[in-house]
Amino acid sequence: MKKYNFNAGPSMLPHEVVEQTAAAVLDYNGMGLSLMELSHRSSEFKPILDEARALMKELLDVPRGYEVLFLGGGASMHFCMVPFNLLGCKAAYLNTGTWSTKAIKEARLFGNVVEVASSADRDFSYIPKAFDIPADADYLHVTSNNTIYGTQLRRDLDSPVPLVADMSSDILSRPVDVSKYSCIYGGAQKNLAQSGLSFVIVRESALGKVSRTIPSILDYRVHIANGSMFNTPPTLPVYTALCNLRWVKAQGGVAAMERRAAERAAIVYDEIDRNPLFRGTAADEDRSFMNIDFVMSPGYEDLEQRFVEYAAERGVVAIKGHRTVGGFRASCYNAMPLEGAKALAACMRDFENEINR
Ligand SMILES: *Cc1c(COP(=O)(O)O)cnc(C)c1O
Repeated sequence: MKKYNFNAGPSMLPHEVVEQTAAAVLDYNGMGLSLMELSHRSSEFKPILDEARALMKELLDVPRGYEVLFLGGGASMHFCMVPFNLLGCKAAYLNTGTWSTKAIKEARLFGNVVEVASSADRDFSYIPKAFDIPADADYLHVTSNNTIYGTQLRRDLDSPVPLVADMSSDILSRPVDVSKYSCIYGGAQKNLAQSGLSFVIVRESALGKVSRTIPSILDYRVHIANGSMFNTPPTLPVYTALCNLRWVKAQGGVAAMERRAAERAAIVYDEIDRNPLFRGTAADEDRSFMNIDFVMSPGYEDLEQRFVEYAAERGVVAIKGHRTVGGFRASCYNAMPLEGAKALAACMRDFENEINR
C-alpha cells in the first residue's frame, strides 16, 4: 500500500531525494566510498556545499550582500545565535507560538526584548495583525510558520526595522522578499533535508554591530569567513539538501511549490469545513499551508484515536496532533503529492460515512 507521511518533522522528502541519499551512502559517484567517509575538505564534498549554497540563493532570489550558511545544530541554536550576533540593546519579537516563545526566552539573555504582540490569549490560534514596532529595535523577529499551531504568516511584513525570521517549516514553500530580512534561519528537517542541519541566510552588513565578545562557533561572521567550513558541517544532510534543492528547481522553483501547497491545503481545509465530524483550530485567514491542524467536533471527541488508526490503515500516516493542541496535524511540506491531500480528505469522508451508517 502506498503511504502518505504527514509527519511534522523530521518529515517526508521527495522519494528520489531519499534514493539519491541512500545511493551516496553506499557508493558516492562510483568511487567505491561512502559519502559519509569522505573529508568535508575533499574535492568531492566542496562542490556539494557550493552548489547547495548557490541553489538556495538562486531559488530564493537572494540579493547581493547576503550569505547562505549550512551549519550543524537546529533552529533552536539560532534562537541564541541571532541575539548573540544582532541584538545590541533592543529587539522586538512577535509571539505566535511555542517556537517564538522559546526564541524570546533566549533573546532575553542578551538585551531588552519587547514582545510586540502575542496570540497566547487564544491558544496561538491566530497571528496578531495590529501592533507597534519600536523604531529603535535592532530587528523584529517573527516565526513565519507555526508548526505546532498551524498558523502561517504568508507574507513579508512591512516593518520600520529589519526582519529576522524562523522559517524552519516553510522555507522554500513560497517566494520570499529576502531584502526585507537581516536574517532567515531554520532547521532543515521540515522542508529541506533530514535533521542535524540548519540553514541561515544573513545580510552581512547587519553583522559586526554588537560590542559583546562572541564565541567563534556562534559567530556568523566566522562561519561566513570560513565558507560554512569553520568546523565540520553535517556532510550527508548537506548532500540531501542539495538533492532536494535540485528537485525543487526541476519542479519549477518556489512559485510552483507555493501553487501546489495552496492546492493541497484547499483540498484538506475544504473537507474539514464540510465534514461535521471535524473542525479546524486555526483562524481561517491565518491557516497554514504547511501544517493543517484540526480536531474532532464537539460530541465526537472519543473518535479521535479511532480516526488516527482508520487513516493509518489506509496509508495516511502520522496525523496525530502535537501534544499541546491534541487532535490531528497533517503536515504537507513540499514533498507531499496532491494525491496525499486527496487521500486524507477521502479518509475523512469515508470515516464520516462509516460513523453515520
Ligand atoms: C521544528 C522547529 C524548531 C525547532 O527546530 P530544532 O531544529 O529542533 O531546534 C524551531 N522553530 C520552528 C518553526 C520549528 O518548526
